[in-house]
Amino acid sequence: MKIDIMTLFPEMCERVLDESIIGRARRNGIISVECHNIRDYTVDKHRHVDDMPYGGGQGMLMKPEPLAACFEAIAAARGTRPFLIYLSPKGRVFDQRIARSLLTRENICLLCGHYEGIDQRFIDSMVDMELSVGDYVLTGGELPALIVTDAVCRMIPGVLAEDACFEEESHYAGLLEHPQYTRPPVWNGMRVPEELLSGHHARIAQWKRLRSLEQTAMYRPDLLEGEELTGKELAYLREKGLL
Ligand code: SAM
Repeated sequence: MKIDIMTLFPEMCERVLDESIIGRARRNGIISVECHNIRDYTVDKHRHVDDMPYGGGQGMLMKPEPLAACFEAIAAARGTRPFLIYLSPKGRVFDQRIARSLLTRENICLLCGHYEGIDQRFIDSMVDMELSVGDYVLTGGELPALIVTDAVCRMIPGVLAEDACFEEESHYAGLLEHPQYTRPPVWNGMRVPEELLSGHHARIAQWKRLRSLEQTAMYRPDLLEGEELTGKELAYLREKGLL
C-alpha cells in the first residue's frame, strides 16, 4: 500500500507520521506514506496556490493548476494513477467500512484542502472520492488525511503486532468493543469481572459478546440493526432495559 498526501503543510503531516505504530511501519518498509508540498508545483514568482473566488464570497480558493501538476507528478512517479481522495466536509462520512474498502487499493492519494477549499473543476475532473471526517469544519485537510491514513494503515498485515488486534475492535465486525481491564484485579474497590479471571474460554467469549452488545445498545443502538441476536442475548438486553 502506497499513500501519497498532497498538502501545503508536509512538515505537519510528517511529524505525526513519524511517530508510534505508523512511524515504525514506515521505517520497516511495511507501508509507504509520502507527503508532497503542493506549493512546489506553482510556476509563478510568488508561488501562489490560492486566488479569489469568482462571484465574490469569503476567503480564498486553491487554484487547480498546482493541484493538477502535483497529482500528475505523483502518478508519474508511481507509474499508475492513484485513487484520489479529497478530504472535504461535503464528502461521505468516513467509517470503518470505507477504511476496509480502501485497503484493496494499491495507491491512494489524499488531497488536503485549505482556505475555502479548492476549485470545483479540479474536483469534477480528477477526484475519485470526497471524504469527510464528520459534520464540522476544520481549517485544513491535514488532520482528516492523517485520520484516514492511520485507520487504513493499521489494518495492513504487519503494522500491528497481530491482526486480531483490529479484528476484535469496535466497528470492525459492526459492534462496539466490550469493556477491557488490566492489572491489578482490584482497583479503588472495583473488581475485574469474575468471568475474565476464570480462564474458561467459552465463558469469557460469552461475557465479551454480551458486553459488546450492551455497549452498542447503550451508545450506538443504530449499529445493532441487522445484527442477529439469540434469545439469550435479547433477554440480556431487555433485562438491562436496553431493548
Ligand atoms: N468552504 C468549505 C465548506 O464550507 O465546505 C470548507 C473549507 S475548510 C475551511 C478547508 C479545508 O479543510 C477543506 O478544503 C478540507 O480539505 C478540510 N476540511 C475541513 N473540514 C473537514 C472535514 N470535516 N472533513 C474533511 N476535510 C475537512
